[in-house]
Parts: sequence; C-alpha cells; structure tokens
Amino acid sequence: MLAIEPDECIDCAVCIPECPVNAIYAEEDVPQDQLKFVKLNVELSRAWPTITRMKPHPADADEWRDVKDKLQYLER
Ligand code: SF4
Repeated sequence: MLAIEPDECIDCAVCIPECPVNAIYAEEDVPQDQLKFVKLNVELSRAWPTITRMKPHPADADEWRDVKDKLQYLER
C-alpha cells in the first residue's frame, strides 16, 4: 500500500492507469464504499516516509493483491 500526499498531488491522473490493482481514484471518483480511505490516505501520507526512488515491489505483493478487507491488517 502506498499513500499519496494530497497537498503534493497535482491531479494529473498519470498514476491511475499505472496502478496494477486499480486502487487509485480521482477524488471525485472514489467509490462510496471506499470513502474511508480518503482520510486514511491523508493520515498515512503524512506519517510514512516519502518514496524518492523506484524500488522493487514487495516480494509478497502478488500474494496480497486479491485479498479482500485488508484494512484489518494495517499496522500503524
Ligand atoms: S501521478 Fe498521481 S499522485 Fe502523482 S501528481 Fe499525478 S495524480 Fe497526483
């Protein structure tokens, strides 16, 4: 999971088709059942370190990509 700092985002939408699990939405297109992630994204984007260089995806990314209700596993 990544978080996007909303004050840094310029809403260019380039990342939307690049996300391999279709997890990114323009703010006005966030599905109703995922609105809770808007506030969480703000919180996490300001708490987590900034990624400044491309790096390999986590080794277990494919294992997690189709798991539902992953929010319960979020560690803060
Ligand atoms: S690529 Fe995505 S996160 Fe980055 S500025 Fe564009 S819309 Fe925002």
